[in-house]
Amino acid sequence: MLDFIYQAFAARIVFGSGKVSEIAAEVDRLGGKSALVISTGSQRAVADAAIERLGGNFAVRIDGAVMHVPRADVNDAVALARRQGCDSVVAIGGGSAIGLAKGIALDTGLPVIAVPSTYAGSEMTDIWGISEGDGKVTGRAPVVVPKCVIYDPDLTRDLPASLAGPSGINAIAHSVEALYAQNRNPVLSMIAEEGIRALASGLPAVCAGSAGDEERGRAVYGAFMCGLALATATMGIHHKLCHVVGGTFGLPHAETHTIVLPHATHYNRDAAPEAMTAIARALGADSAAGGLFDLALRIGAPTALRDLGLEEENLDRAADIATAAPYYNPQPVDRDGVRRLLDDAFHGRRPGGDA
Ligand code: NAD
Repeated sequence: MLDFIYQAFAARIVFGSGKVSEIAAEVDRLGGKSALVISTGSQRAVADAAIERLGGNFAVRIDGAVMHVPRADVNDAVALARRQGCDSVVAIGGGSAIGLAKGIALDTGLPVIAVPSTYAGSEMTDIWGISEGDGKVTGRAPVVVPKCVIYDPDLTRDLPASLAGPSGINAIAHSVEALYAQNRNPVLSMIAEEGIRALASGLPAVCAGSAGDEERGRAVYGAFMCGLALATATMGIHHKLCHVVGGTFGLPHAETHTIVLPHATHYNRDAAPEAMTAIARALGADSAAGGLFDLALRIGAPTALRDLGLEEENLDRAADIATAAPYYNPQPVDRDGVRRLLDDAFHGRRPGGDA
């Protein structure tokens, strides 16, 4: 019997090649007369064109948003927005540009229009994060959810394989965990499976540098679906491990996700059979975990934690921390199992053996 809660955030999605040209129209649609435009370095030219189109509705710009959204940057941006009387924020770039826009929205309530250039998915969520000192404060607030998201696959044209591969598999990880989440539901599962399918079908050509509009579009569409999955699904062992291993030992975020995902999926293989079937079906593979591992190999993404500089002697500590506090995961979390999972991920073994 169907019995579920599906939570969605209201947002307007404008999707398609060349749609960055709609930024000014979308600001206008929100009644914006004085927009703050944020971009990362790679998207400067896109921001230039948007500013020209905005004309009198442009107020001020911030270039070079940086990783982890430093508190000082948020404070400076909020002060700038107030000084200039800004009434809207346009963020063009990856999770860093969108993260800064969310930080501003949190303090000011200004509406955000997000124009993502990676597959990270922040534009679909109510999650904000601001780094202060050595740590990062995170939270959820409806006010940071962008009012409009413009997905233009053309923006990913110059995304190098070294970024596109891990960014894409990091997005897929959100959908994998959504499929076996404690709050899973049929709508979310449909979205999550479609996200995996679309990204897995677009990424190989994107990473090989041979993608046309079709493959680029499929990858971005998949990122949109995976962002939706991240927005409302509770996350399990995979995210816990990545936060612990990545956070404690300073490993790169998307690459850590890419390496751990096949092993976390394998760990849940018997406890979440429906999810495994959906993941394998989306990948066109015989097994979910094997299919994820093969996708990483195929796109030249990293497959072994030791290649990220993690020391083998740290695996015991990582297993201890990852299993210290109980949390939901379909397969009960036990320290020995997690230690074995980490060992396989460390050495880059194919989950379940070579068969
Ligand atoms: P990012 O914005 O820092 O981009 C990574 C790098 O890619 C940067 O150097 C950037 O200049 C470059 N880049 C971006 N788009 C490019 C393009 N099209 N072509 C060439 N280079 C390009 O980070 P990200 O990978 O987009 O996102 C990761 C960050 O987002 C993390 O800090 C993560 O915590 C955050 N995040 C937040 C949420 C959320 O819901 N709040 C969700 C996912 C990720």
